[in-house]
Amino acid sequence: MSNATSGGPGRIAGNGAVTARAPAKVNVHLGVGPLRADGFHELQTVFLAVSLFDTVTVRPGDGLSLTVRGEGAASGRGPASVPSDRRNLVWQAAELLARHAGVRADAGLEVDKSIPAAAGLAGGSADAAATLVALDALWNTHATRGDLATLAAQLGSDVPFSLLGGVALGTGRGEQLSPVLARRRWDWALGIAGEGLSTPTVYAELDSLRATGTLPAGDAAAPTEPVITALRSGPPAALAAALSNDLQAPALRLRPDLRRALRAATDAGARAALISGSGPTVAALADDEQSAVRLAAELAGAGVFRTVRAVHGPVPGARLVG
Ligand code: ATP
Repeated sequence: MSNATSGGPGRIAGNGAVTARAPAKVNVHLGVGPLRADGFHELQTVFLAVSLFDTVTVRPGDGLSLTVRGEGAASGRGPASVPSDRRNLVWQAAELLARHAGVRADAGLEVDKSIPAAAGLAGGSADAAATLVALDALWNTHATRGDLATLAAQLGSDVPFSLLGGVALGTGRGEQLSPVLARRRWDWALGIAGEGLSTPTVYAELDSLRATGTLPAGDAAAPTEPVITALRSGPPAALAAALSNDLQAPALRLRPDLRRALRAATDAGARAALISGSGPTVAALADDEQSAVRLAAELAGAGVFRTVRAVHGPVPGARLVG
């Protein structure tokens, strides 16, 4: 891959601002293999990028500063669950790109979050990917997509997919991607719970369920071919039958209320429902856009989710906007 991503001066607004957005993801297949010596699990996963986006705006600055708005930001309803200092992946992405490009890390960073935090939707990863794309343009680093993908993998396992978007098979710890061509659009209702789930806690629960023999060992993952074939062209019943997530059982052990949430989705007419990634978001598959909107309205009325969003995928990865 050698395309430079810089949008050039035309993408820089009069006030010097550059904006990029990146999508949330749903894992339509998540096979978790054994724990590796480096502390990560070997994964076989199929990512689908969906139409719920975070936006990152960057401006010329002196040193780095960060403002977070929207989902997970501090508000009248409670303290922030998303940090606004160097613990934020956005900040880390800026420092990494500056080091790579040999430029000073000077920028004002602003994140507008629609993707809920700690929801299994890779919100932090989306922000990191959007930051790389926006700062590449602001700082004129002329990084190639390949360069950005290498930096993305250093920031987190899901960041390369947030950059790529579409549909992809992820191996390794999820960062080694093979794009998959999907010829049709998939519609979903996402049921978002009030409280997030920590990804490391869900993996630890999976390890302990496997160690005690409650769940089979991690070398018995379901094959990815059926889900890839179904994603390419359908029909919805084939994709519904092929959805799988090894993190669903540990997520349900940690949050038994999610069983009711999954049932609510199928009762409301979803083709199938599964936990997205490490949860707690419930991804409910619909036949088409109209059914997804109907499903989302029904689930919103069921009172089991904090919020419900109708989305579709595949959508592109991190891109400049405006
Ligand atoms: P994944 O599915 O990639 O494992 P997730 O979607 O469940 O992750 P994130 O929304 O990425 O979870 O957030 C996980 C944690 O990362 C948060 O609880 C927060 O402390 C930290 N974090 C750092 N940067 C960000 C960011 N920009 N947005 C959200 N969370 C962030």
